[in-house]
Amino acid sequence: MEFSLLVDAFEQMEMTSSRLRLTDHLVSLLRMTPTDIIEKVVYLIQGKLRPDFEGIEIGMAEKMILRSLAQSSGMGMTALLEIYRDTGDLGNLAKEAMHHKDQTSLMPQRMSVERVYSVLYEIAGTTGPRSQEYKIRLVSSIINESSPRESRYIIKFIMGSLRLGIADNTVMDALSLAFTGTKTNRVLLENAYNVSSDLGTVARILATEGLDAVEKISIILFKPVRPMLAERAPTIEDVFHQVKGSAAAEFKLDGERIQVHKANGRVELFSRRLEKITSHFPDISTIIAGSKLSDTIFEGEVVAIDLDTLNFLPFQVLMHRRRKHGVDEAIKNYPVYLNVFDILYYDGETKTHLPYSDRRKIIERLVSVINDHRILLVPQTVVQDAKSLSNYMSKAIEAGCEGIMVKQLESEYRAGARGYAWIKLKREYGSDLTDTLDLVIVGALYGRGRRVGRYGALLLAAYDPKTDTFKTASKVGTGFTDKHLADFYNSLGRHLLRHKHPRVDAAIQMDVWFEPKIVIEIVASEITLSPVHTAGMNAIREKYGLALRFPKFTGKIRDDKNAEDATKVEELVTLYSQQKRTIQR
Ligand code: ATP
Repeated sequence: MEFSLLVDAFEQMEMTSSRLRLTDHLVSLLRMTPTDIIEKVVYLIQGKLRPDFEGIEIGMAEKMILRSLAQSSGMGMTALLEIYRDTGDLGNLAKEAMHHKDQTSLMPQRMSVERVYSVLYEIAGTTGPRSQEYKIRLVSSIINESSPRESRYIIKFIMGSLRLGIADNTVMDALSLAFTGTKTNRVLLENAYNVSSDLGTVARILATEGLDAVEKISIILFKPVRPMLAERAPTIEDVFHQVKGSAAAEFKLDGERIQVHKANGRVELFSRRLEKITSHFPDISTIIAGSKLSDTIFEGEVVAIDLDTLNFLPFQVLMHRRRKHGVDEAIKNYPVYLNVFDILYYDGETKTHLPYSDRRKIIERLVSVINDHRILLVPQTVVQDAKSLSNYMSKAIEAGCEGIMVKQLESEYRAGARGYAWIKLKREYGSDLTDTLDLVIVGALYGRGRRVGRYGALLLAAYDPKTDTFKTASKVGTGFTDKHLADFYNSLGRHLLRHKHPRVDAAIQMDVWFEPKIVIEIVASEITLSPVHTAGMNAIREKYGLALRFPKFTGKIRDDKNAEDATKVEELVTLYSQQKRTIQR
């Protein structure tokens, strides 16, 4: 397939901020893509080479790209930097630089998608001494073979700045329309995606074998399963509106969720966002690798424990484990325990369809097979009424937990779904809203006074899965230390945009905008109606959205969450209504 066709589609998609039109462009692109490369095209349009969990990164710094461009264009570094200053983007620079080049000597050949993909893949796989020089040569040669327009996208891709705003949901809508003629089959694609976390594979199977084959996609070892999630309940009484009879109550540990895959001697750990994090917890993986478990996938919460008091320590302590150097020392200083809470696959068989009470029995077996004091069963008790649940909540809080999880004994494991099969109940945070919210940073105002040179306030948004957009709910300026402000300035810089991102729905003006990527935790005193925020617009009152009153950053950056995992607009609407009920009571 000619790469210029992909570039045509990219250009059209870049120009639209309407999700419907974006989907139309995608549908046309997918229809003209030969089935044998559909997988690659699906990854490329999302700015990836492979699914996220494979952790493939191109790893080229700005300086290296500049050197490649100097080689391909024949321009000197000073001239290149001058254009770069004007264009402000390496992709645009590549286009300009290649325009400048005297092209009479070469008749550019037609570049194919396959060739671009394979060169990018080779760049990503090149490591070791002298790899930088080799990567520079690879980039320069592919740019030499491409047109200026194509060069722009190749460089944008390499730099990770190809921001077309195409979310998973949009790709699934487009695949469903392109290959089945209707959007309604998107649920089947979603199910397959939920168990495989690999849209490229789902697209390939759909295009080559059809919808029936997609329906048969099931759990595959070493492809992470998208996690099952909980709904929140504001009070203990509310839990029993959802639960009939008895339920399992468990400690809600404040650590990091991991999904463990084991087959033969191989073990991989995946985070809640499905990234491979085996290297963060080598102690845990070694224990599991050495156990007698075979072909198994299970989940648990890794928590650090205070060795003096044996209390659970907060989530932040685990940050010490995210390092490349000094791992042995971190293992010694911050010992962790894995508390197992679910099983998806055991001894080569899928277990997700079993009721939770049966899965729990398998987890008990699993923990005894591993037989190591660092791999534990998550504390659980079966409750039937509000009083025993309340007692259990006190016990959990005393042990340093953030609350409890209540699980329906009959429920299956539903990959990627949030529902009342699991209910989370958190302790009060000294604010009127019982739970914290996880919101996405989408814009900022520059700081004044002490905050000059930093951002003074951040614009936060909730996620709306129906429209696949981020709708604003708050501006927050409190709860930040100087270090936070400096860190945010740096980390947000990578996502900086001149204009509002197409997936952000905001009605206020900001100094700068960001690609929706970074999720932070916020507490607030209540949710109020607001004429300026777009979250929940018209849901409660005509022309009013919802906003947070007295929002404050808790200090927790939710880097275990993707933007689409942020608090949903619908949750804000529910919280608003629950809050009114509490006041009326
Ligand atoms: P939160 O913002 O509350 O951490 P979340 O959006 O990450 O939530 P939820 O589904 O709301 O996910 O809450 C479930 C999370 O709580 C799990 O992802 C897991 O990390 C953690 N957790 C702690 N203890 C348990 C437990 N016993 N069972 C299931 N999950 C638990």
